[in-house]
Amino acid sequence: MAGGAERGGVALVGAAPGAPRCPHGPALLFVKTGQEKTEGRRFYACSACRDRKDCNFFQWEDEKVSDTRLAAREEYNRNHQPSFTHGQNVERYKDFVLLPLSKRRFCQECQQLLLPAEWEKHSDHQFLCDISTAQLRSPSRLLYPLENKKTNAQYLFADRSCQFLLDLIIDLGFRRVLCVGTPRLHEMIQSKDSQEEVFRVRSLLLDIDFRYSQFYTEDEFCHYNMFNHHFFGGEAAYETCRKFLCQDSGEGVIMVTDPPFGGLVEALASSFKKLMAMCKETEKEGHNNQEMSIFWIFPYFFESRILEFFPSFNMMDYQVDYDNHALYKHGKTGRRQSPVRIFTNLAPSKIVLPVEEGYRFCAICQRYVSSGNQHCEICNSCTSKDGRRWKHCVLCKKCVKPSWFHCNNCNCCALQNHTCEKTDPGCFVCGKAGHKRSTCPSLSHTRICQAGKKQRQKTLKRLTMGICRRSAMKHAVFSRKKVKHKKKKM
Ligand code: SAH
Ligand code: ZN
Ligand code: ZN
Ligand code: ZN
Ligand code: ZN
Repeated sequence: MAGGAERGGVALVGAAPGAPRCPHGPALLFVKTGQEKTEGRRFYACSACRDRKDCNFFQWEDEKVSDTRLAAREEYNRNHQPSFTHGQNVERYKDFVLLPLSKRRFCQECQQLLLPAEWEKHSDHQFLCDISTAQLRSPSRLLYPLENKKTNAQYLFADRSCQFLLDLIIDLGFRRVLCVGTPRLHEMIQSKDSQEEVFRVRSLLLDIDFRYSQFYTEDEFCHYNMFNHHFFGGEAAYETCRKFLCQDSGEGVIMVTDPPFGGLVEALASSFKKLMAMCKETEKEGHNNQEMSIFWIFPYFFESRILEFFPSFNMMDYQVDYDNHALYKHGKTGRRQSPVRIFTNLAPSKIVLPVEEGYRFCAICQRYVSSGNQHCEICNSCTSKDGRRWKHCVLCKKCVKPSWFHCNNCNCCALQNHTCEKTDPGCFVCGKAGHKRSTCPSLSHTRICQAGKKQRQKTLKRLTMGICRRSAMKHAVFSRKKVKHKKKKM
C-alpha cells in the first residue's frame, strides 16, 4: 500500500466473536492508530465497505448499546437488503427468457432485467433493449462495473487473462471452480458449459455484488462477503457452497479469487481458510487430507503479507491484465506492466506460462518466469518481482529493484532520493523498534480515509446491495456519460 502519514490511521484487529452486525454481516474490529486522543481505542466497523460513505456502521468496542438502538439496528439491516430475493430473481429470469427479443429490456439505471409489467415504472430510465441470450450469458458486460475503489473495485479480467486462467485450470485437471469475486471467470465457465457437451468444468460464484443473482440460480451464485465469510443467503447458501466443495470427496476443486486490492489481507486470509476448511468437511469419514487448491490474484507488493498467512504459497510471474483498469491493462502499443500476480499453493513447476507472451522456464528454479527475470547466481533464484531485471546488492545480500541504490545511512537499498529513516521511538502497538504503528506486522493495515466521492459511492453501494432507488440512481456514474453514449448507438 502507498505509504504516507499515519494521521487518522486505522488498523484491523480482526473478526471478533459476537461482533455486532451491519447490512454486510458481522462487523470487524479495528483500532485507531492516529495521533488523536482516541488512539488505541478499538471499534467495530463494516467489513465490506472501507469508506464510511458506503456503510456508516460504527460502534466502540466498549460501548453499551441500548435495546431500542439494537432493535432499530436490526430493522435497518433488514431494510437494507435487496428488494428482490435471489429466489424471486431466479423466477423473474425464467419469465424473462420466455419473452421475445423485442420485449427483453434491461434498465441501466436500476441495473435490472425488466418484465413488461414493470416498464411503466421505469419509463423515464435509460434502458437497453433486445437483450440477447449471449448478453444474458455475459452479465459482467451487461452490468456496469462498480469502480468505486474503496468498496467494490470491480476490475474485470481481459479476455486473454481469463482464457489463460481457464485453460490452466483445465490443463491441471480441475473439474470444479469456486469463483470468489471472479464473475468473469465464472461466466466464461458457465457459457462454455452451455455450449460444449464435452466441457466438464462446473463453477460456483461467490460475490458481494447481488446484481448477479438476476442471472444465476442458487446453485450457481451465492451472495457472499469475503471479508467476514458471511453468506447473505444463510444456512441454505452455506450448504450449497459446502456441497459444491465436498463433491468427489473434495477432490478436483480449485478456488480462484481476485479480491479488491485495498488491503485487509488478514480478513481475506481468514475467510479463505474457512472456505478451505469447508472443503474438508466431507460427507463420509474424511479421506481428504489435501488442502484445497487456490489461485489468489493480488498485486505482487502484497507478497509478504500473503505469505504471512499462507507460508506455503508461491507467487507466479504471470501478469494478470484487466479490461477496465487504466493502469493494469495491456496497451495496444507495447506492454503496460500489470502488478497483479497469481499466488498459489500448487507446485510452481505445474503452472505453465505462455512462452508467446514472454515467459520462459527456469530449469534451476523449476518454474516459469518473466523473460526479463534473470536468474541470480548469488541468490540462486529468479528474483525479480515486477518483471524487470533486478540487480544483486552484496551489502543487502539480496536482489533489489533496478532503480534502487545502497544507502549507507539506512544500511539498505532504497530510491536515490529517499529520506533516511530517523531515530525510532518504537511502535505504538507492539512496542518494538523498526516500524511504525501503521505498519506493525501484528496488525493488518487499512486506512479509512474519508476523502471525496460521497454521493456517488453511496449510490453505487446501494446498487451492490441490489437496492434500487430512482432518485439515488440519478447520481450514479453510469447514468451520466456512458449511458447517453450507448443510447445514441441504438
Ligand atoms: N477480475 C475479476 C473481478 C475482480 S473485481 C473478474 O473479472 O472476474 C473484485 C470482485 O470482488 C468484484 O466482482 C466485486 O463485486 C467482488 N467483491 C468486492 N468486495 C467483495 C466482498 N466484500 N465480498 C465478496 N466479493 C466482493
Ligand atoms: Zn456494512
Ligand atoms: Zn429503472
Ligand atoms: Zn541476488
Ligand atoms: Zn543494498
